[in-house]
Amino acid sequence: MTRSTLHVGVIGTGMIGQDHIRRLTQVVSGAAVVAVTDANEVVAKEVAAGLANATVHATGRALIDDPAVQAVIVTSWGPTHEEYVLAAIAAGKPVFCEKPLATTQEACLRIIEAEAAHGSRLVQVGFMRRYDAAYRALKQIIDSGDIGAPLVYYSGHRNPEVPASYTKDMAIVDTAVHDFDVVRWLLGEELVGIRVLAAKPNSLGGDLRDPLLMIAETTSGVLVNVETSVNIRYGYDIRGEVVGESGTAALADRGPVQVRRAGRVGVSVPVDWRERFIAAFDTEFQEWIDTVSGGLALAGPSSWDGYAAQAVCDAGVQALNGGERVAIDLVEKPALYSS
Ligand code: NAP
Repeated sequence: MTRSTLHVGVIGTGMIGQDHIRRLTQVVSGAAVVAVTDANEVVAKEVAAGLANATVHATGRALIDDPAVQAVIVTSWGPTHEEYVLAAIAAGKPVFCEKPLATTQEACLRIIEAEAAHGSRLVQVGFMRRYDAAYRALKQIIDSGDIGAPLVYYSGHRNPEVPASYTKDMAIVDTAVHDFDVVRWLLGEELVGIRVLAAKPNSLGGDLRDPLLMIAETTSGVLVNVETSVNIRYGYDIRGEVVGESGTAALADRGPVQVRRAGRVGVSVPVDWRERFIAAFDTEFQEWIDTVSGGLALAGPSSWDGYAAQAVCDAGVQALNGGERVAIDLVEKPALYSS
């Protein structure tokens, strides 16, 4: 059977929107970008000029309503995501939404309600770590039972630096949100409570409270320790280690070669998240295209995952400001997201 090309429209042609368009047109197979829109029309037109026959729409709504658009990709500013995801659901079109699904739990719940009323999954959220080869290998080891039941998970998220626009809460809602999602996926459990401690501040980080240590618990009592250090200069370093009952498993150090010189041995560290996760983004989109084009049930991060991660973020911000443990209370999981 020959598969037809999936015609996608992209809402938001900023930094990651342009990167995903490059991916869709030059790296993965089976998709064509037939429409774009952005609040900045000049940028949208520039991006469209580099595409074969892409329509520039004035608004995200117009793009979603375009009959030529079979599936929607939302890469606009976070607070706009709810509106576009809801409109795509109303139009019955599959929608890939970059994280966050929406910026409040309530908005995420409105999306869940709309998708549940539609009756089948249309939404996938851009938690790309689930498509990273190293994380997938780590999950396989956890699921195999080779190291026994997990008891503790350590997640390190280190950035060389962050822009001046990076605010205090962003270490949780923009950075650690990826750690929250991946640990829920690795362990197959929800996080039920969180404490956040701010360490002695890194003097390279201005007024930010950095590093942060977050200690969360899962439903069964696994302790999850997330460290964010966002001004650490040496590189973009993602750490992950599970301590099981009879062994441990950790993401290996990166770099294809190990250099020994001048009394030292070392591997390279990625400069930023694009370098570290480029292959994961490619796999994420190839699998999404194949699933949507094949008319298969979506299996990637769901609206529920977007909601649950947002709930952890909200509790984390509250814990950072209040200093105490904050419980994470999720609503009952709709049947649509149970399998
Ligand atoms: P960005 O460079 O600021 O791009 C966002 C674009 O959306 C801008 O061109 C912006 O236009 C446009 N926009 C704003 N409101 C809009 C609206 N109502 N309709 C259409 N377009 C609108 O931001 P970015 O870094 O690409 O991030 C975009 C999203 O991707 C964010 O949600 C971010 O969290 C997510 N992201 C995820 C990852 C990941 O690791 N998975 C990595 C990076 C980003 P103006 O500039 O004129 O406002």
